[in-house]
Amino acid sequence: MFPLKAGLHHFPHGVFGSADDLIHGTNVRARDTLMVACSGQGFSPDNVSFAEPDRFSVLQHIGASMPSRAECEKHEGLSCDGVEKLFDRHDFRHVIVCGHLDCRVIRNWLQPSIEGHADIGDFRLRFEKGTRKLVDNNYSPKTVAERCTLMICEHVLCQIKNLLTHPFIMERVLAERTSFHGWVIDDETARVFAYSFEESAFVPI
Ligand SMILES: [Zn+2]
Repeated sequence: MFPLKAGLHHFPHGVFGSADDLIHGTNVRARDTLMVACSGQGFSPDNVSFAEPDRFSVLQHIGASMPSRAECEKHEGLSCDGVEKLFDRHDFRHVIVCGHLDCRVIRNWLQPSIEGHADIGDFRLRFEKGTRKLVDNNYSPKTVAERCTLMICEHVLCQIKNLLTHPFIMERVLAERTSFHGWVIDDETARVFAYSFEESAFVPI
């Protein structure tokens, strides 16, 4: 179990769906779930025991990093078109944002940037301004490993927050057509930890 500080994020009521509904829901069908996972997580992040192979649409991205609407509007060339097109094509009932404990991308982003290197990239910049700032301002981890785990867990919640800034997603959440699930996978054991808003922690499912 990975406990987090409560009250750091403001999510709309009912945004998080239950693991029970995701796994045993009555209307489970193909392509009803979008999984946003890290590109460093291997080729089949959707290879989970409870789901048929055609259940998930998988979007793998560096660090599972997702832009907010404001970022998309500010930076030309950066867009959320891919996600929007996926939502047009599939009636997603669930969105899983999935991090993993052995994330080399986040470990790398925690290293100091190369001095004088002006372009550190959109993804790293998003991480530094979002997740890293949030963790460093609100937690006092005792070890490097603890800090890294906090970053990995909070990063999942920050990407959910970013996705919720897009009106085409928020409208679905408010209409109770789509719910979110925050996951962190233990790469060694393949155990899934899901975010529980009530417990403010990632708990095993
Ligand atoms: Zn990763």
